[in-house]
Amino acid sequence: MEPCSLCGGEMEVKKAEVIKKVAGKVVVVKDVPAWVCKQCGERYYSIDTVDRINEILKEVSEEKVKMQKIFAGELNFKAAIPG
Ligand SMILES: [Zn+2]
Repeated sequence: MEPCSLCGGEMEVKKAEVIKKVAGKVVVVKDVPAWVCKQCGERYYSIDTVDRINEILKEVSEEKVKMQKIFAGELNFKAAIPG
């Protein structure tokens, strides 16, 4: 793997969480193999991995796969109230 294209840092393989919004639902895909920069934390995914994520998201939107329910909260960046 080439060094990070943002900062030139060393990359390492890690399992990442990818968070996407599909059809009004927040979908967290866990254990996604990713290259993560040790220096700035930038993540890179292989084309195969991106394809698979898109496939999973499509399956979620078509309700072909079951998701484990998690608690989720949402807030607006500007309207965030200390709580
Ligand atoms: Zn970096």
